[in-house]
Amino acid sequence: MKVFKFGGASVNSIERVNNLVDIVEANQSSPMVIIVSAMGKTTNALEKVAEAFYRGNKEEALQHFNLVKQMHLNTCKYLLVFRYNACLAQLSDFFTEIEWLLHDKPVRSYDYYYDQIVCLGELLSSCIISHSLNENGIINEWIDVRDSMRTDNNFRDADVNWNVTTEKIRANVLNLINDNNKIVVTQGFIGATEDNESTTLGREGSDYSAAIFANILDAESLSIWKDVDGVMNADPKTYPEAVLIPELSYTEVIEMAYYGAQVIHPKTIKPLQNKQIPLLVKSFLNSDQPGTIIHQKKNKGLPPIIVIKNNQVLIELNTQDFSFVGEEPLIELYRLFKQLHIKPSLIQTAAISVYVCMDDKPEKIEQLALAASAQFDVQIQKGLSLLTIRHYNEEVLATLSERKDKVLQQQSAETVQVLFR
Ligand code: ASP
Ligand code: MG
Repeated sequence: MKVFKFGGASVNSIERVNNLVDIVEANQSSPMVIIVSAMGKTTNALEKVAEAFYRGNKEEALQHFNLVKQMHLNTCKYLLVFRYNACLAQLSDFFTEIEWLLHDKPVRSYDYYYDQIVCLGELLSSCIISHSLNENGIINEWIDVRDSMRTDNNFRDADVNWNVTTEKIRANVLNLINDNNKIVVTQGFIGATEDNESTTLGREGSDYSAAIFANILDAESLSIWKDVDGVMNADPKTYPEAVLIPELSYTEVIEMAYYGAQVIHPKTIKPLQNKQIPLLVKSFLNSDQPGTIIHQKKNKGLPPIIVIKNNQVLIELNTQDFSFVGEEPLIELYRLFKQLHIKPSLIQTAAISVYVCMDDKPEKIEQLALAASAQFDVQIQKGLSLLTIRHYNEEVLATLSERKDKVLQQQSAETVQVLFR
């Protein structure tokens, strides 16, 4: 059994959906679970719907929603003939659900509404893709992943309940797959609470969903189909000399994701590593190319791996009475990270200061600053970027950090990080 995951860029046009159909057709010999993301920039568009709705601007929310609706209706119209009506009926049900919601007044948290609205992207795309496959003779079953992917109610960054999800995926998916090599099509990124409220697993979370399926179903491999040839040592848009890395270890990829490499969602590797399931990162445009294989084996001689995280904020915490930063304030600080779901990109401690670098999430920064101000003087610098180089050498470091206005640097034998303005 294989798991295939198709990201937003691989399904953002009629041609790309047809291309997906070709890829699946060429791999049909083994049973398969196909996890899809929302088409193109749909998630961003739905975020606008959620924002407008929450601001109380119903008209604007409906306008934004209409764009999403039209785009999917058009895709469906140009893609399907025999399956058109069936697909349309399914899409319409989803549209109606959101339109009802948009006519209400928001009474719960923004994050709650965000998830109820944004989850639609994956439902629509998976629906269109399932019908397209069927229309092309690739018999498959569409399932609503919210019946299987059980999460807590930490909306927008929900945690998966592995026990319930394992039970449900086995019950809902296993026999479908075993039934003469059936293909199952479902959604990444979304789940539901035990009260059937929709949740999302964090932006770009579809990779993680796919890894969960691969783990629970003991897949022989997970293939993630992307618009790049595989994992590169840097973003080719910023570094034209970036090269493809044919083979990587799980450990290396976890490190890369941790430092903010956009290749794969950070949570993806653990479920695969735990069951030694290889991850193939492949290009949907050059599907014959081997791409990158990620597995247990450690590899030597990696090129320097370069990651840049923009939109960083440095929070400088200085003890108010000039006392050294001891365990107590640090314990308190980490407790705050946990409570506020803050994942710092870098932490550095000095005698009377702690430096915390994190993504620019204004609401969380404000909460953190407020709570920390009981013990520390707090200073905040915004608009920073964090450069990380793994397997660096002095030459690369010098080239990449020259002419940069450095704010902070952290260095180990393997990794160097430079925070700059
Ligand atoms: N559609 C979601 C996003 O854009 C999830 C994903 O693509 O993995 O963040
Ligand atoms: Mg995506």
